[in-house]
Amino acid sequence: MDYQNVLTTCIYCGCGCGLYLEVLDGRLTKIWPAKGHAVNDGQLCIKGWNAHGFVYHPGRLKTPLIRKNGELVESTWDEALDLVADRLSTIQRESGPDSLAFLSSAKCTNEENYLLQKFARAVIGTNNVDHCARL
Ligand code: SF4
Repeated sequence: MDYQNVLTTCIYCGCGCGLYLEVLDGRLTKIWPAKGHAVNDGQLCIKGWNAHGFVYHPGRLKTPLIRKNGELVESTWDEALDLVADRLSTIQRESGPDSLAFLSSAKCTNEENYLLQKFARAVIGTNNVDHCARL
């Protein structure tokens, strides 16, 4: 049996608690809090204890969905990203950059959040940026 504990950071909020992923034979089985971690020192909230619950959930989205004729249809990332880029460009051109807003997430890394606000300000031209931690 192959057994590993992989140190990582909880994905659920900006606190950044440290936790271990217990992996048995390549399958994520459990979460353990990281004792001595600077943020949580062996503690986790209920979300952290269950941070692995979505990984094998049958309802997990694994491909982008595009609504076509009222139905959500699986698509490729290329198709979904082309659609988003096209819609953002159209709205920006027709209604101005401040008709768009960008909302980021505590589930993203600092670097991803930085990139989103940079994209909003430098590429789109709006300061309409917010984050779910303020909601
Ligand atoms: S364990 Fe709870 S408090 Fe800690 S990062 Fe995860 S969601 Fe936030």
